[in-house]
Amino acid sequence: MIDRIYNFIGGHFVPPRSDKFIKVYEPATGMIYAEVSNSNSNDIEDAYTSAESAFPSWSKLPIQKRAEFLNRIADGIESRIDEFSEYESRDTGKPIALARSVDIPRAISNFRFFASYGPTFKFEGSLDNKTSQNKIIRSPLGVVGCISPWNLPLYLFTWKIVPALIMGNTVIAKPSEITPFTAYMLGQICKNAFLPKGVLNIIHGSGQLTGNPLVAHPKIKAISFTGGTLTGASIAKKAAPSFKKVSLEMGGKNPAIIFEDCDYKKMLETIVRSSFSNQGQICLCSSRLLIEDSIYEKFKLDFVEKVSDLVIGDPENIDTQFGSISSRSHFKKILNYIEKAKKEGARILSGGNSIKFAGRCKRGWFIEPTVIEGLDNLSVLNQEEIFGPVVTLQSFRSEGMAIKIANEIDYGLSATIWTKDKEKGQRLANKIDAGVIWVNCWMVRDLRTPFGGMKRSGLGREGGEEALKFFTEQKNICTAL
Ligand code: NDP
Repeated sequence: MIDRIYNFIGGHFVPPRSDKFIKVYEPATGMIYAEVSNSNSNDIEDAYTSAESAFPSWSKLPIQKRAEFLNRIADGIESRIDEFSEYESRDTGKPIALARSVDIPRAISNFRFFASYGPTFKFEGSLDNKTSQNKIIRSPLGVVGCISPWNLPLYLFTWKIVPALIMGNTVIAKPSEITPFTAYMLGQICKNAFLPKGVLNIIHGSGQLTGNPLVAHPKIKAISFTGGTLTGASIAKKAAPSFKKVSLEMGGKNPAIIFEDCDYKKMLETIVRSSFSNQGQICLCSSRLLIEDSIYEKFKLDFVEKVSDLVIGDPENIDTQFGSISSRSHFKKILNYIEKAKKEGARILSGGNSIKFAGRCKRGWFIEPTVIEGLDNLSVLNQEEIFGPVVTLQSFRSEGMAIKIANEIDYGLSATIWTKDKEKGQRLANKIDAGVIWVNCWMVRDLRTPFGGMKRSGLGREGGEEALKFFTEQKNICTAL
């Protein structure tokens, strides 16, 4: 008997109006383990009615009271952290140790962070002059939509929902149909935490059938989206006629710039993580490694050796460091890119193939961590987001050349710089077109800081005050003196 994942509307789990479902696979085994609702515009309408009726009382609740609900939800997830981690790993193919140490704890901290940071937000300000008094107020928008991808399911789902809720909005949220399970569990937690009915509605289904009517709904005030750049562009287009606010967090093709004068040991360990965590399926992963030519050959040997130490296997095993690709279609897409690399004359230094295991994972979608050299920065492999365990190496001779290669791309999400020379680190950081730059570290996040990309990587910023502002509307009341 496989699980059936229903929508969460008005505090109840309900089947989709069409009674249509989509199969959900465990990527490590290639087997179906659940069916998820494939909702349509009727379900979105139900969710809208429920969110709309919940809005007046939720938005009027003192912010501290809303924060209490958020903390209660965080407690609920925390009390089932092992179960959440197990299901996140099953849904995505990520190692259970990663889900347990990063995904679920970060989802919990999204709730706790905004529960404590939200109440510090200034909803009112004033600007006076000789002739008038200006009172500037911010109010919640109303019903908003949140759409999230499959790579960090609960972590990114909550990253959007929580700032919307703390500011007093009610939410219709759509997780990826590929990885819906922990979002479904979140509905259970909200029910147990007595979150008022209709404040959070979780609607499952495909981008086409479910995502589209959510984006196009004339009364939904904003869409916060994380996903691919092409989807983001289509969302921006569909949201435009109703003049919705739109926040878009999209793809990346992030450079890591490695100088000879870096802390080599720390750099090497971090670069292996930043390249291959979650099988390279993190928008922030370093996929283009730019290495100063004086250490290129040494780095190449050491990196390939370190990569070969990664423990690849069943995500269920606690020792596994590298699991499976999250869907069959993505698995095929990544292998196609590797074939393209070979045709373009690349040298595959490590990996380059799918992996077949015996036993439970014999039908799973696994690809070796793959390291490639010998391609020009303008090649397809260096320009397109692969979003998988494939990194390329290029060398550079000067700071100017490193900056040129780093910026010679349509994406601008993140970059990492490795040097002990602090001034050089800052100098480069100022010149690189990316929204998030890490110097001598990776994925270190202070949730108060703005997060997002430039160019084709994003529009707007999430995190801290930026996220809170996004979910409000501003009004200036000018009174003559
Ligand atoms: P997609 O763009 O395919 O999907 C993202 C979400 O949008 C899913 O819930 C999807 O539903 C939904 N969707 C798809 N089409 C539409 C549509 N027409 N209207 C409304 N919603 C739609 O991205 P992936 O899930 O493949 O995620 C990988 C991408 O996400 C990568 O490009 C990655 O870089 C990016 N990403 C960006 C991050 C950032 O912070 N900048 C962080 C993490 C990932 P369904 O799954 O049902 O198709």
